[in-house]
Amino acid sequence: MMTEVYPNIFKNEIPLPKNPLRAINSYIILSESRNLIIDTGFNTPECQAELMSGLEKLNVDLNKTDLFITHMHADHSGLAPVLKKFGVPTIYFSQVDGELLNQTSQRDTFYISLNRILGFEDDNSASFGKEFGTRQTKPLEFTPLSEGNQLVLGDYCLEVVDIPGHTPGHIGLYERNHKLFFCGDHILDEITPNITFWGFEQDILATYFTSLKKVYEYEIDYLFTAHRKILKDHQKRIIEIQNHHDIRLKEILNILQDGRKTPGKIAASMHWDLSHKSWDDFPHPQKWFASGEALSHLEHLVYIGLVDRIEEGRTFTYGLK
Ligand SMILES: [Zn+2]
Ligand SMILES: [Zn+2]
Repeated sequence: MMTEVYPNIFKNEIPLPKNPLRAINSYIILSESRNLIIDTGFNTPECQAELMSGLEKLNVDLNKTDLFITHMHADHSGLAPVLKKFGVPTIYFSQVDGELLNQTSQRDTFYISLNRILGFEDDNSASFGKEFGTRQTKPLEFTPLSEGNQLVLGDYCLEVVDIPGHTPGHIGLYERNHKLFFCGDHILDEITPNITFWGFEQDILATYFTSLKKVYEYEIDYLFTAHRKILKDHQKRIIEIQNHHDIRLKEILNILQDGRKTPGKIAASMHWDLSHKSWDDFPHPQKWFASGEALSHLEHLVYIGLVDRIEEGRTFTYGLK
């Protein structure tokens, strides 16, 4: 469904069947000389049909239209090669997430070791790419953007803002005069963005908190989010999200009161807002997201000195210090 959400800015709500996210908001900014698409939907026939029919309704000339990808997740980047094939000249991406997307084989290795850290069977990772809507067969050619770069479209001057956390190279676009912010999955209404584990060498949750505080300071009238509703009061939502993570951290400390556990066990003891009765009923992707989220929180507790991590053989456990 296509709606004009601000003069010359359109939201194409693309359904994501059988996915708890329900839909992705792909935005299109029109101007006389050039247009910009922000995020694409999965590389599936259903998403492609919705994306293209929206662009056709607006009579968008793809040869004069660039694509901006907020982050590397397949619901945002999946149709980039298709748009490129149909004539989109430039794909803007952050260097960090662009490389993450293109390092498919390294990602496979990472997922396999992550499954081991979580205490899952290794072969669970084999279906990961399929479940999350395809993987790139060829590396995606992109133009890297970094903090402060500007994209000008008619009346709008969009500045690139680094907002890492949901992914290590997540970027957004800020329009200072109109007080508009395109934030991808950094801040969402109704659901909290998934903050997962990206390796022991970083405290990604702390990185995310820093990005939340950064955006809190911006003057924003419309926060154009990539899922669910467009937000008007970004500061209220940021406080809610921060509180959600503080509660999570306390919950984990509580769970660890009765001894050391694997991250998978800890995730199974946490409370999740999903419609399944028990942990065992969770579909594999949800289990995986939940465990990744538990792990990012555990690692944050390690970084701030409240918890320690021990590796014994093939098993990782976490306990109170
Ligand atoms: Zn995402
Ligand atoms: Zn998303």
